[in-house]
Amino acid sequence: MKKSANRSRVIELDDESGDIPKDIAVAPNITAEQFIAAQRDEKALERLVGGLVERKVKGQPLFNEGKIILYNTHFKERHLFKFRNGYGEYDPQILNSLNYFMRCNYDNSYTEMDIAAIEMINYVAQLMGVKELHINSAYRTPEYNAILSGKNENVARNSFHMQGKAIDYSIPGVPIRKVCQYAQLARNYFGYGGVGYYPRQNFVHNDSGPLRNWAK
Ligand SMILES: [Zn+2]
Repeated sequence: MKKSANRSRVIELDDESGDIPKDIAVAPNITAEQFIAAQRDEKALERLVGGLVERKVKGQPLFNEGKIILYNTHFKERHLFKFRNGYGEYDPQILNSLNYFMRCNYDNSYTEMDIAAIEMINYVAQLMGVKELHINSAYRTPEYNAILSGKNENVARNSFHMQGKAIDYSIPGVPIRKVCQYAQLARNYFGYGGVGYYPRQNFVHNDSGPLRNWAK
């Protein structure tokens, strides 16, 4: 079972907007996001599984439904993905179409995206109360990433995009700084992942790697 070495680290936010919910750490329900985070912590997992079994016996939904509208700015495609139901069950067909949707801008090849990265951006959209995210870049083949990193010093050579673990996105009409603040909240809540802030290029990067934070 994977564990994050930096799990307890809390990153302070420089909050200018003042409208970030203060109580997001107190979930009203057991969410899929908590479940995924708990999978990296055995004791938390035991507690959660106990709670989940109890809810299932009572016939109650376990999670908020995993549902998001995505627009791919490269391929100009928009799609609603209902990838997980309220019982935490993922739909493999929807995940397949999501994998294809997140394909490489360069040659259309695709990979199995990390659910943890999908859940992360879904959670950002839920927190912000927006239905749609605009995806600039998700999976990249090693060839394409090498081309990008050769042209642009902001592109990491060893990017999580090549493992299907990173997604770059924006939200039309929302300042990218604010999107980044919510991405950081989501990351802190999950207890893993990197957040990159790219104000000049107007996007935020979320990945499901170790806890990290940077701005370009
Ligand atoms: Zn990225």
